[in-house]
Amino acid sequence: MMAVRPLIAGNWKMHGLRSSVAELEKVIAGTAALRQTVDLMICPPVTLIITFAATARGVLAIGGQDCHPDPFGAFTGDVSAEMLADAGASAVIVGHSERRIGHHETDALVRAKVEAAVRAGLLAITCVGESRDDRGAGRTLGVVSSQLAGSLPDGAIGERLVVAYEPIWAIGTGLTPTRADIAEVHGLIRAWLAARYGATGQATRILYGGSVKPGNARDLLAVANVNGALVGGASLRAEEFLGIAAACPISHGAT
Ligand code: PEP
Repeated sequence: MMAVRPLIAGNWKMHGLRSSVAELEKVIAGTAALRQTVDLMICPPVTLIITFAATARGVLAIGGQDCHPDPFGAFTGDVSAEMLADAGASAVIVGHSERRIGHHETDALVRAKVEAAVRAGLLAITCVGESRDDRGAGRTLGVVSSQLAGSLPDGAIGERLVVAYEPIWAIGTGLTPTRADIAEVHGLIRAWLAARYGATGQATRILYGGSVKPGNARDLLAVANVNGALVGGASLRAEEFLGIAAACPISHGAT
């Protein structure tokens, strides 16, 4: 069993103004003990990345929520991975279901974004997960396998990759899969990563995301091959985010 340092990443989505730096400061103030054992990250809206990175000063990582595959060009409204890195981000979320569904992003596009993140030296937090219908029809493992195959590059990118399993029906709903269901999907992802990337795939962090709160974090984070969490709503409040981080097992094994 390989020791993997857990990561708790907060996805602020389209929430936060410049005044929200006060919430980040509260998170920073609460990290002293946690930093020994857990990596922490906040992914604010792009408008806040420069300020947040300057405030965090490496105490916790700052990430973007999406990037364009190209480094620059005539793409109105888009932001490249290089621009995120230049602003002080060290990671970017790609393939979130809100982008896959709301912006019709395909696996091929997500894969191009993963490659862009790696090119820019960012950690690519790549999201996969099934819909409620897929789960009901017993298609979860097939859907997740196909998203992995379509969204992740062939080349050796293990150290720049984090995979987040986020069942769409669990996001923002207060619903979570059973521990057995999470173990099954994370086990499949681990086996897939190990087959594709070898030893690096054994150590790639696999986050669970979907209605993680301080009250359920201990149970969810103790499941085999769960190496941290991607947190939406509960990451907006420092107290809740820190409560989730505090529930992290010190070093969780990747089987
Ligand atoms: C998310 O959108 O990535 C997420 C996990 O949201 P929530 O924690 O609010 O369910």
